[in-house]
Amino acid sequence: MLVMKFGGTSVESAAAIERVAGIVKGRLPRHPVVVVSAMGKTTNKLLAIAQTAVQGKREDYIRQIQDLRDFHSREARQVVPLSERAELDRNLDDHFQELMELVKGIAVIGELTPRSIDAISSYGERLSSYIVTLAFNHFGLPAIHLDSRKVIVTDHRHTQAAPLFPETYRRLDATIPALAVDRVVVMGGFIAATEEGVTSTLGRGGSDFTASIVGAGIGAEAIEIWTDVDGMLTADPTIMPGGHRVKSISFAEAAELAYFGAKVLHPATVIPAIERNIPVMILNSRRPEVAGTVIVANPVPCRNAVKSIACKRNITLVNIQSSRMFMAHGFLRRIFEVFDRCETPVDMIATSEVSVSLTIENAARLPEITSALSEFSEVSTEPDQAIVCLVGENIRHTPGVAASVFQALRNVNVRMISQGASLLNLGVVVAGKDVRAAVEALHTEFFTDPDPEVFD
Ligand code: ASP
Ligand code: MG
Repeated sequence: MLVMKFGGTSVESAAAIERVAGIVKGRLPRHPVVVVSAMGKTTNKLLAIAQTAVQGKREDYIRQIQDLRDFHSREARQVVPLSERAELDRNLDDHFQELMELVKGIAVIGELTPRSIDAISSYGERLSSYIVTLAFNHFGLPAIHLDSRKVIVTDHRHTQAAPLFPETYRRLDATIPALAVDRVVVMGGFIAATEEGVTSTLGRGGSDFTASIVGAGIGAEAIEIWTDVDGMLTADPTIMPGGHRVKSISFAEAAELAYFGAKVLHPATVIPAIERNIPVMILNSRRPEVAGTVIVANPVPCRNAVKSIACKRNITLVNIQSSRMFMAHGFLRRIFEVFDRCETPVDMIATSEVSVSLTIENAARLPEITSALSEFSEVSTEPDQAIVCLVGENIRHTPGVAASVFQALRNVNVRMISQGASLLNLGVVVAGKDVRAAVEALHTEFFTDPDPEVFD
């Protein structure tokens, strides 16, 4: 069995769904299990509807729901045979009536709980998976719909729920292999349910995670993540176009890239796959002939020190100094207690005896953080910084990487540098305005002679 996940853009229209059917058809002998995201920007639209409802803007939410229905109906009608139109309409009616009732309830109560957010945002994947199933049958693929909420079981942390793995794996294994013998199983990503059957979701971008959980649960031969880019690149294309495609990368490298901003993959995605040693492929549904990126435990050896350069923009640098803490203990504990209390994750950190520099991505509670830190230290903060992170397993074996970094960045003001304990990343913090120059300089330094076995 093979898990194939298609993201929102891959199923955004009738034409896109037809393309997907063609891709899946080519894999039929491998017993594909298809996981789909909501069509296009549907999840965002559903969340907007929830906001409109809680503000009590009745006409607006009625119109928004109508628009969403029209969109689904228009695209679906083109990929569903005439004989199935009545069934399609009935199903869309049911879903949108239910959604309307839910939204009205929220408007009446004037309160949006995480649980009701999940109930609303679940409609995107519920609709897309149903429509894709009908479309597959229309295009000659024998397909069967499976409601993910029956097999992916989570805890109660709505909007960010964590799977209960043993029970989920048990249900996946008890359901899917039997269905996949002679049919393409189609299921929605992102959505799940608690043990009591209450709808939950795995968090934004969670369909990749679903694919990985399903792959692990059924012991798939591979997990394919079909998206709208050619795979992982040596540099973020929004910052520096023209990077090389990375043909193969390790699980650890891919996870590191995801943590440091690579948008292609949800960071948690790789975990169930790593545990069961299942290769993950990233492929482009618009250019299926491109081989994409393969993520495996042990990729082919690479001559280059660096595999890719990731960036995280819009981060805040926090500098903390306390001469009072010289030779005293507990400085770091006091600092981190503040970040803990303010529920703000710290990304990168560099320390000396009396000073600590660190970066945060979420600056929502920065005023509170600085005021608490000011009680025992001098604090300064700098917004609009960027982390530029070199990732590669070879960084640890290659002497002189840091020297090359400094050489390449000789004209850029580096605010902070950190080599992670994982030894496979080396990160620098630069001002947001310098990020492009920094990435270009590093890319030239590390990729003048890319190993053809690894890079395209
Ligand atoms: N539809 C969900 C989202 O937009 C999940 C996903 O697409 O991965 O976040
Ligand atoms: Mg995604």
